[in-house]
Amino acid sequence: METQQTFVQILLPLNLWDSYTYALPDSLLTKAEIGKRAVVQFGKSRLYTGIITEIHQRKPIDFIPKNIDEILDENPIVFPVQIQFWNWLSSYYISPLGNVLTAALPSGLKLSSESILCFNDAVNYTEIALTDDEFIVAEALSIQREISVNEIKKIINKKNIFLLIKSVLFHKIAFNQEYLKDKYRVKLESVIRLNAQYQDKVALKNLFEVLEKKSPNQLNILMTYLQLRKNNEWVSKSEIAITANQKIGAIDVLIKKNIFDYEKQPISRLKNYFAEEDAIITLSPAQSKAKDSIVHLFTTHETVLFQGVTGSGKTEIYIELIKEALQKEEKVLFLLPEIALTTQIVMRLERFFGNDILVYHSKCNEAERVELWQKVLKGDFKIILGARSAIFMPFQKLGLIIIDEEHDNSYKQIDPDPRYHARDAALYYATFFKAKVILGSATPSTESFYNTKINKYGHVILAERYGESVLPEIELIDMKLAEHQKTVIDSFSKKSIEAIQQTLDDHKQSILFQNRRGYAPYLECHQCAWIPMCKNCDVGMTYHKGINYLICHYCNAKAKVPNTCQACQSSVLKIKGLGTEKVEDELKILFPLANIDRMDLDTTRGKDAHELLFEKLKKHEIDILVGTQMLTKGLDFEHVHLVVVVNADNLIFMPDYKINERAFHSLCQVAGRAGRGKIRGKVLIQTSHPKHPIFNYLLTHDVNSFLEVELLDRQNFSYPPYVRMIKITLKFKQEAKLEEWSQKFVKLLKEKLNITIIGPSKPLIGKIQNLYYRDIILKLKKDKFFVQEKNKLHQIMRTIPYEPMYRNLQFMVQVDV
Ligand code: ADP
Ligand code: ZN
Ligand code: ZN
Repeated sequence: METQQTFVQILLPLNLWDSYTYALPDSLLTKAEIGKRAVVQFGKSRLYTGIITEIHQRKPIDFIPKNIDEILDENPIVFPVQIQFWNWLSSYYISPLGNVLTAALPSGLKLSSESILCFNDAVNYTEIALTDDEFIVAEALSIQREISVNEIKKIINKKNIFLLIKSVLFHKIAFNQEYLKDKYRVKLESVIRLNAQYQDKVALKNLFEVLEKKSPNQLNILMTYLQLRKNNEWVSKSEIAITANQKIGAIDVLIKKNIFDYEKQPISRLKNYFAEEDAIITLSPAQSKAKDSIVHLFTTHETVLFQGVTGSGKTEIYIELIKEALQKEEKVLFLLPEIALTTQIVMRLERFFGNDILVYHSKCNEAERVELWQKVLKGDFKIILGARSAIFMPFQKLGLIIIDEEHDNSYKQIDPDPRYHARDAALYYATFFKAKVILGSATPSTESFYNTKINKYGHVILAERYGESVLPEIELIDMKLAEHQKTVIDSFSKKSIEAIQQTLDDHKQSILFQNRRGYAPYLECHQCAWIPMCKNCDVGMTYHKGINYLICHYCNAKAKVPNTCQACQSSVLKIKGLGTEKVEDELKILFPLANIDRMDLDTTRGKDAHELLFEKLKKHEIDILVGTQMLTKGLDFEHVHLVVVVNADNLIFMPDYKINERAFHSLCQVAGRAGRGKIRGKVLIQTSHPKHPIFNYLLTHDVNSFLEVELLDRQNFSYPPYVRMIKITLKFKQEAKLEEWSQKFVKLLKEKLNITIIGPSKPLIGKIQNLYYRDIILKLKKDKFFVQEKNKLHQIMRTIPYEPMYRNLQFMVQVDV
């Protein structure tokens, strides 16, 4: 009898909706396991590593599968639960499964024949025990610096080279190209460790005695090393020199004597942190009560919305809840919107949990990502702190998920596909582990608030600030009136100027919030109102005074500032609108003695830029900080007394059903930066529309009434959370064709689906980067037909875009917009 042939499903990190079937050769039969990486040929000659997602005996009927070439891993690098999660993401967000895999795996784990390896100078390969093949690759790399996997294949002339490459990477002889493509280049630092001969206690004691007699300085270095060593035997040379107050040269002497080993290592951002033992928190009565309520609600709910006003000490309560989870040996996932902007909270958590906490952020390079991945895989962690992509880590167990600032928009991935919402995905992911979820915010999203009303989530409110601090006083400034009264200077009302001056006199700090970066949003011809537009996009270009260029904020195109109007040749071009750079300039003239700084995308591109600004703010080296949205997130500085919103109007007028919610969130959050110390803070909001309804709720800090009214509106006009909304965007380089095809596509959707379809419509910005845009909005009722209709849509999106007529169009699907 013929034995049955075994097949495997391989999921490849490519834009593919499904996994592919390959045959498993007998030689790999015992090695195959779900979650391991396999090397397969895909397309004519390209090799890729994919993940084995299924092992089965179903012989395909219409084709003969190729064999898999080899299996890379000794142990799976993901668990079945991750594969299930990817499947859910792909189906819920109507996104090709292969794209989900691409997003999920660090690129260090995704090798293909196109991958490029880069030589690593920091490792001396001649000192490592290598096989002949490994040595040849290392030599080739040291000469050529960069070699593609394909080229290595030619040099080695063997079929299966992926295992070889994996081992070259393992020895850190080379890095996968992505490693160097990283925004943050690898920095090297000199590190030393005690030579192995002194592991032995007697030998170490002898060394002590010798050094004590011969050189107290060298003894000092040795002792400093031992003190700093803790749980990593490699310690930075300069750290030792500084701590011991010795010259680097003195350490070199000890290296020459073979007392220390020396090497250069990439500066690891997986630093060693040590919890401070004295960091004990005593919760206030209100905080204890909130914490107890959360714990209590977890007996009946999986998810609790924890709504605590800014400065109420949500972090302290999270810390207590994490401690309890750790006592039960549960693993914790802590999500933050953007790590870079929340350094403060990261530092606070590190203070309490030291090395138990692993931080997974956008500044981690590829090697570090792989390192973290391996740690999580082994269960070698207690708490993971990360931005949205941390949900892809290979967890096996999770007891608690905390999603801080749950309302924040940056939980949503917009580009590239998969376009998922990390909060919602995490809520679903939690069900696999039966983990409890805390959604924290001072200004909850309408969705989460709605879920508390239907009792899907528990709801805990902490309405008072911690300690003596109270919520700031908020005042509106009617700019139309001020202009009428001629009390406006540049972009400021007299009242704002006086308040800033008073704050300076009191030696306190001010934060000025302006939603746009650059100097001025546009230039305009005084004669004919011509505006310089981006050549690729349907938007005016923003004037950046510092570099004296026009920049498109949609495609980054740069253009010289024109001297004359290109329509009427007039030479009078006026600066219109207001950006952070201009606010800063105006302030410098109004307050020449103050220290003024700016925080926006343009000033924070460098690696440590945020930290530096925070440091300066903390040390009071800044009196006035001007900035965009970035300022609204989690800053906690005792001496910030005043917050001025320079122009609230551009926050409240946008054709988007979520605009009120967003404006309310931003204003509440930025207001929450004021008066975190003992003196009550002040917030001034400059607007030409003081009667706008959101201000009523803002002035009284009445988040709940705002949300109630907002929900009522949403219900009346059939918007989420009462319906589910999906947006399909079509893009093409010719507008007429795009219009025609979009119409046809909508017609087809209407034929096949029994839902509300709106569009195609031209979005506010109809062209970006030389592509025209059309939006189609789908509204699905939350009833028993929902899944059925959604599945039909899924089916359409899997097939239609590949039909000849649509092939040149780009489709972009966003679920839950
Ligand atoms: P939120 O995140 O709710 O805006 P924070 O967690 O930033 O508030 O807390 C505000 C400030 O009050 C922080 O400086 C924090 O350290 C302090 N704080 C809050 N609760 C306590 C407590 N129980 N003991 C000591 N300090 C606290
Ligand atoms: Zn003109
Ligand atoms: Zn542009």
